[in-house]
Amino acid sequence: MEKLQHIALRYVKGIGPKKAKLFAKAGIESIEDLLYYFPRRYEDRTRLSTVAELKEGQPSTIKAKVLSSRQHTSFRRRGFSITEALVGDDSGAIVCVWFNQPYLKNYFKTGNCFILFGKVERYAGKLQMSSPEFEPTDTESEESLNSGRMVPIYSLPEGITQRNFRQLIKHCLERYLPKLVDFLPFEIRSRANLLNLAKSLLNIHFPESEQMQKQAYERLSFEEFLLFQLPLVIRKASRTQKQGIAHKVEGELTGEFLKRLPFTLTAGQQKTLKEIKADMASALAMQRLLQGDVGSGKTVVATIASLMAIQGGHQAALMVPTEILAKQHYEKIKSQFSAQSAGRTTQSLSLEGVRICLLTGSGNSREKDRIAKEIKNGKIDLVIGTHALLEEGVQFLRLGLVIIDEQHKFGVGQRALLPRKGPNPDVLIMTATPIPRTLAITLYGDLDISVIRELPPGRGLVRTMVCTTEEKDKAYAVAREQVRQGRQVYSVYPVIEESYVLDIAGAKKMYEKFKTDEFKEFRTGLIHGRMAQSAQDTVMSQFKKGELDILVSTTVLEVGIDVPSATCMIVEHAERFGLAQLHQLRGRIGRGAHESFCLLISDASTQEAKARLSAMAKYTDGFRIAEQDLKIRGPGEFFGKRQHGLTELKVGNPLEQLQLLRQARQEAIRLVANDYELSAKNHAALKDKLLERFPEYKERTVAG
Ligand code: ADP
Ligand code: MG
Repeated sequence: MEKLQHIALRYVKGIGPKKAKLFAKAGIESIEDLLYYFPRRYEDRTRLSTVAELKEGQPSTIKAKVLSSRQHTSFRRRGFSITEALVGDDSGAIVCVWFNQPYLKNYFKTGNCFILFGKVERYAGKLQMSSPEFEPTDTESEESLNSGRMVPIYSLPEGITQRNFRQLIKHCLERYLPKLVDFLPFEIRSRANLLNLAKSLLNIHFPESEQMQKQAYERLSFEEFLLFQLPLVIRKASRTQKQGIAHKVEGELTGEFLKRLPFTLTAGQQKTLKEIKADMASALAMQRLLQGDVGSGKTVVATIASLMAIQGGHQAALMVPTEILAKQHYEKIKSQFSAQSAGRTTQSLSLEGVRICLLTGSGNSREKDRIAKEIKNGKIDLVIGTHALLEEGVQFLRLGLVIIDEQHKFGVGQRALLPRKGPNPDVLIMTATPIPRTLAITLYGDLDISVIRELPPGRGLVRTMVCTTEEKDKAYAVAREQVRQGRQVYSVYPVIEESYVLDIAGAKKMYEKFKTDEFKEFRTGLIHGRMAQSAQDTVMSQFKKGELDILVSTTVLEVGIDVPSATCMIVEHAERFGLAQLHQLRGRIGRGAHESFCLLISDASTQEAKARLSAMAKYTDGFRIAEQDLKIRGPGEFFGKRQHGLTELKVGNPLEQLQLLRQARQEAIRLVANDYELSAKNHAALKDKLLERFPEYKERTVAG
């Protein structure tokens, strides 16, 4: 049988090239696309109200006749059109209004009948329905699709009516469902108690009942979750089939480094290291995600892991998202490797002997070529860099370990590139955007996960306060007091140049203002992403050395900067930052023993912005913040486009259906364990589906 995704929509009766184009805009090109284009919501049109029954504030459905209609332009806003229709039934009449949809005029001809669905409001003392959804109800034959039931409402491009679309779906369901093969193996369906595909598609569009709609939704979410989990699970399983590197995890370098470390590792760091050590000692390639809040000390862990690779003769690469951060890591690690005591060791391997280099996008190309050559010749043991590491010219002699810091800043594709530069190297991915563990296991289903929950001891408390622009002086007073005590201040703005349109202060202008007015008695510096890299470096190092009291900046600060005596951060227009971003920013303070202050200045008016700011005031734990963020934004926004396939999820919601997601993962694991190649006859349809959805997995997983 021909597959539904191969039957183009234009072969369906009544769909000409023009319509086909409209549909293509909505991403519907094949019959399968169409059948998987689910309703945005349903209207319960099993209960019709009479006009007399309408109550303010209640969404209701009425069936009424147009008594009169008119269109006029708003007095207050030029060019803003208003369409009004007075509609009524035997019990009374009510006005319906629509804004800026002048073409509606043609629909509401006196005498025509409509089903109208919308919220009832009071305007100028009278009840009205504003922008209700409507369906003409003249023709008897379509009655069953459009009223008297749970009616599907779709998000449709202009030019396609709900009514038409329902008709089309109905037609295609009738025609193609009987031939449809369910690609979910029967045993999985029966174990998970799921509807079959045909019944699910039928009921997601035209539910027999609320109960059936729920079951249909569950089945369709499950299949999506399963298709999302399978590649992850297969990838994880495929690791056990590939030979990696068994590193020399105990040795001179790690021993020396630990001995010299001026502090003891936290329990979380120790546990993580133990896990990494086991992975690296094994001949299977490590794929580990290390989650730990800002300041939890992931870098030390990464450094020790690097030494494990290096002491066995391999190269390690550490990739970070910004140049500032690369430099900071480079300098810190270099200083940790250089001998504090004058006496040179006579050992063949010593920390001082570890050859380490920095590779970023800036700098002259001859220098970069030289570094690239050294990496290729194996003259470098540890390279720290930015995206520049991904360039084709960068080749390794024996890359044994890849570490990616602040992974959320990189796309999935980028993340996968670096490890390809070695023969199946171990991979450690670090993130300071923690997500709840239950979710992490399923979302990063191809990775093993380590977590550092605590911060190193001896950190001062960080207090967070939210204030309005009017109370700005209070925030400045706190900053002033901190500087007087010898501390340093970050002052963060969402933009470089101020915007009159949005009424936002910019970093540049505020820097001038601070320097000449507000904080003229202090030393103020400015850093932003449009400054030359060298200028950024100069300012950053001045601040680190304590030669500046106040650093005005944009979000270039966000990632990883480590200055322990910075104890105060003022963020203006704080509502313009995301929650994760604010948390990252706040992570720049509270790094020393002193109490720190985070002052969020905002006149936020939206509910969402207020929720973000109060979450910041309430929580300091990154996991808590992440949970709140997820709640406020929902998973799609939270994880962002670049993270992973999660945003591909069109049907299921991993937050609300965590149990189902887990179940899908369990089934995926069971499937792969029993039939790694999915070659059993009853798995053929599933394998087909998988390859069709994820063609890129063909060579990497199932086939290879
Ligand atoms: P992260 O990358 O997780 O945000 P860092 O690795 O930058 O955190 O560590 C933050 C600071 O804490 C660094 O100055 C580091 O030297 C210090 N640090 C790390 N581990 C410990 C520890 N166990 N005890 C005390 N200080 C530590
Ligand atoms: Mg870090």
